[in-house]
Amino acid sequence: MALFKYEVPEKLIDGKGIRMDKRKFDELRPIELKIGVLPNCDGSAYIQMGGNKIVAGVYGPKKVQPRHIAHPNKVVLRTLYRMATFSVDERKSPAPSRREVELSMVIRNALLPSIFVEYYPKTLIDVTIQVLAADGGTRCACIVAASLALADAGIALRDLVSAVAVGKIDGKIVLDLNDIEDKEGQADLPIAIMPQSKKITLLQFDGKMSKEEFTEAIDLGLEGIKPIYKLQQEAIKAKFADGEQPEGGIQEDQGDD
Ligand code: ADP
Repeated sequence: MALFKYEVPEKLIDGKGIRMDKRKFDELRPIELKIGVLPNCDGSAYIQMGGNKIVAGVYGPKKVQPRHIAHPNKVVLRTLYRMATFSVDERKSPAPSRREVELSMVIRNALLPSIFVEYYPKTLIDVTIQVLAADGGTRCACIVAASLALADAGIALRDLVSAVAVGKIDGKIVLDLNDIEDKEGQADLPIAIMPQSKKITLLQFDGKMSKEEFTEAIDLGLEGIKPIYKLQQEAIKAKFADGEQPEGGIQEDQGDD
């Protein structure tokens, strides 16, 4: 049991349009990205996004285990999203929850279109993501980190996948919901995109919005993703500043699978 539990505030946005954590409606939380943070896997990345602290590790492409899941013409992508017991205010059971199983799949589906899967037949890529601290929007933060970890592992990518959640709180459309905004707000809309081709790889929706609000939310999300994508690119540049290059790299898209 946490020593401190937040009180649900009456308002999530004050009279001047400022949110509880002092952000404006279109402001991201501070983001820090690092790649190559783990010594024991082929690629890794760490993201801090507001109070989210998440690490992603990639193994592969490697021999498929169990063998029956192998695909003759393409790589199999396996993702595991897990929250540490201490990642939320009340100790989370270490047993995998339905939410973790679902988010593992959602994150996999968001990353898969970015990989040149046919380059690696009969192999497996394992992406393991550990949420060390959760503060709303973890699926998007996980996608950002996992995409960087794939690039760090030298896997050939069409583009990085970038992501953010948009939502509605106190009747207003806002960017990058934190935990309390996610839980107490009226809607939550996570988006992931490959910015170069503008292909959306994740779009979920929970809550209520009008048609106009939905359009406003998508526009706000796509705009909000731009600086995140830039930070991802900078994280790669920072790692490979010494001239070393990831093997596969981000390549020109030759069309759909
Ligand atoms: P996302 O993290 O992608 O927003 P959800 O909407 O399911 O996914 O979760 C919103 C937030 O709720 C999480 O980011 C986290 O801060 C919090 N949360 C998730 N699971 C738990 C839990 N078991 N106990 C307390 N808070 C949780």
